[in-house]
Amino acid sequence: TYVVTEACIKCKYMDCVEVCPVDCFYEGDNMLVINPDECIDCGVCEPECPAEAILPDTEDGLAKWLEVNAKYAEVW
Ligand code: SF4
Repeated sequence: TYVVTEACIKCKYMDCVEVCPVDCFYEGDNMLVINPDECIDCGVCEPECPAEAILPDTEDGLAKWLEVNAKYAEVW
């Protein structure tokens, strides 16, 4: 799955939402998140994000953000 990270906080762009083929972005308190159960790992959103906030979950150190994304997407 891809994961939205800190740089998204208070970002006003929605470019990622527009390109996602499966509509798996959800709104958190002050950022967008990706539902890890719905993301098909296509990678289309990553280069579209002006804040470079979207990363593949294969990057290191994303445990906290994976939690935030799952929580706001109401996976739990
Ligand atoms: Fe949507 Fe693809 Fe980004 Fe996953 S990787 S959030 S499916 S655009």
